[in-house]
Amino acid sequence: MNALDIRSLKKTYTNGTKALKGVNLQVAQGDFFGLLGPNGAGKSTIIGIISSLIRKTSGSVKIFNTDIDKNFALAKSFIGITPQELNFNQFETVEDIVLNQAGFYGMRKKLARERLDELLEKLRLEDRRKEVSRNLSGGMKRRLMIARALVHKPKLLLLDEPTAGVDIEIRHSIWSFLKELNSLGTTIILTTHNLEEVEILCRNIGIINSGHLIEDTSLRTLLSQLDSESYILDLEDEVTDAQIADFPELKAIDKHQIEININKKEKSLNSLFVKLSDKGIGIRSMRNKNNRLEKLFLDLISTS
Ligand code: ADP
Repeated sequence: MNALDIRSLKKTYTNGTKALKGVNLQVAQGDFFGLLGPNGAGKSTIIGIISSLIRKTSGSVKIFNTDIDKNFALAKSFIGITPQELNFNQFETVEDIVLNQAGFYGMRKKLARERLDELLEKLRLEDRRKEVSRNLSGGMKRRLMIARALVHKPKLLLLDEPTAGVDIEIRHSIWSFLKELNSLGTTIILTTHNLEEVEILCRNIGIINSGHLIEDTSLRTLLSQLDSESYILDLEDEVTDAQIADFPELKAIDKHQIEININKKEKSLNSLFVKLSDKGIGIRSMRNKNNRLEKLFLDLISTS
């Protein structure tokens, strides 16, 4: 079954901006799906329509086979959402924020309390439960947003930039929490600018550009399409222009560093290294120039 099934989705804002120009997108139950795209591509509009904050112009949206136009309350009960903007009452305590959300979904008090305890423990917010939210750090606020979104055990979790502004340690703890949640059956759709996050978490991804879905594929397939990679080599000794003149794939950055751009289908790194060594160029270390996905992403949106 699909957790999400979007057909011919269009959105024109009242000022005439065509934010979505007919998007078709299916996300299977159990998937961890990354929705990517540059700023202004239409990602938040899609998330807003799914969660009913934004009214669509035309097209259909089904959550677990339930059309949001036909049975909105049921469709909404399947969804948990963490918006990009922190949007809770700054003067409410952590536990009240989660419990009020449970009340909003009509959960019994006892069950809500049990769920609250479980979530605060898992998201490492237990010792903050009586704190008003404005006193929390940025990372704690993000985790509170996730706790609030999960209180009614949604089958589909929508995360808009879940680790924006969060330090590395907390980011990693949020990632492992989300991985576990997904492995236990929750379908997750995530928007992010952090392509490392996508590479670590997502199984499938869709790329939106100017209101169109320009790519809908698995992460593995996408990465396998990468046929060129750039590396920076740190050299043992100073290099002269004459030494690298015969290598079109090389570019000197300075006397101790060269950049190589290699097409994996045509040449192997190994044979290049042998030739460099023949010219007396020794390599001290090497690193990838870009995150692999980042390069592919930039290539895709520049050609769409
Ligand atoms: P993303 O989330 O990918 O950055 P958005 O969905 O926020 O993109 O925006 C898509 C397009 O719709 C952009 O051109 C944006 O300026 C426009 N847009 C978003 N919200 C509104 C609005 N309330 N009124 C008019 N235009 C909007």
